[in-house]
Amino acid sequence: MQTKPINQLDFVDGELSSFVSHLETSYLDQAKGAFIVTANPEIGFEAMQNPRYETVLSSADFILPDGIGVVMVSKLIGRPLQSRIAGYDLFTSLLDKAHQKKKRVFFYGAAKHVIEQTIERVRRDYPGVEIAGYSDGYVKDQSEVADKIAAAKPDMVFVALGYPVQEFFIHKYRHLFPQAVAVGLGGSFDVFSGNVKRAPSFFIRFHLEWMYRLITNPSRWRRMLSIPKYVTAVLKHERASAKPQYTGQVKDQSRHL
Ligand code: UDP
Repeated sequence: MQTKPINQLDFVDGELSSFVSHLETSYLDQAKGAFIVTANPEIGFEAMQNPRYETVLSSADFILPDGIGVVMVSKLIGRPLQSRIAGYDLFTSLLDKAHQKKKRVFFYGAAKHVIEQTIERVRRDYPGVEIAGYSDGYVKDQSEVADKIAAAKPDMVFVALGYPVQEFFIHKYRHLFPQAVAVGLGGSFDVFSGNVKRAPSFFIRFHLEWMYRLITNPSRWRRMLSIPKYVTAVLKHERASAKPQYTGQVKDQSRHL
């Protein structure tokens, strides 16, 4: 898959459908695992502040631009990404694949009633999916869940614990389920189970999902600030790395000594 860098992270440059086809032929059909990050501007900004998190994200097989903020930044720095790939859309597309191909799926994250409603809906709408297991996201000992996932031998693992916890979890434990495609999905189970409404199609079409979220959940406004913060930080980083290197001058001077 073609990628383009923003800061130190390489983002997938393509459409959801071609990405899912690539995953199917090169990973799912080969029982080959992958770590997928669905990175919105908040995640991008956090990676710029937290080198440990950046290292974890850099170890992923794929980083998807989940948010128009990321696509916008890519255009501003002259390396335009073709399309946003939303984590939620990847989730439902992979459920479709799992349904068609009778794949084993493990679900981890969200509140107890949310994960139970998520499983109910999967059973109803994607009957071909083999539910390898599930756990809510508030279990004290994550390693117990990791052991459960390992024993279940799933083809896919959906981890919806919110960032950065979900990425740290996958990075730490993926060696226990090396055959699985593992994806961090934020609040996708809340939406899928009907507990949180996704923006109406008007907002999605005009890339205004962030505005819908702000209107319906104003307490998130502080989190929204990460969009301008991310844009500013990336532009600053680009400018700094475009400056001529000073070391060359030092070398030149030393020749005259
Ligand atoms: N969550 C969880 N365990 C925790 C904290 C959060 O399972 O210890 C879940 C929470 O219930 C919600 C999701 O993680 O379903 C976070 O959703 P959000 O939209 O805030 O995702 P983010 O944007 O932080 O990635």
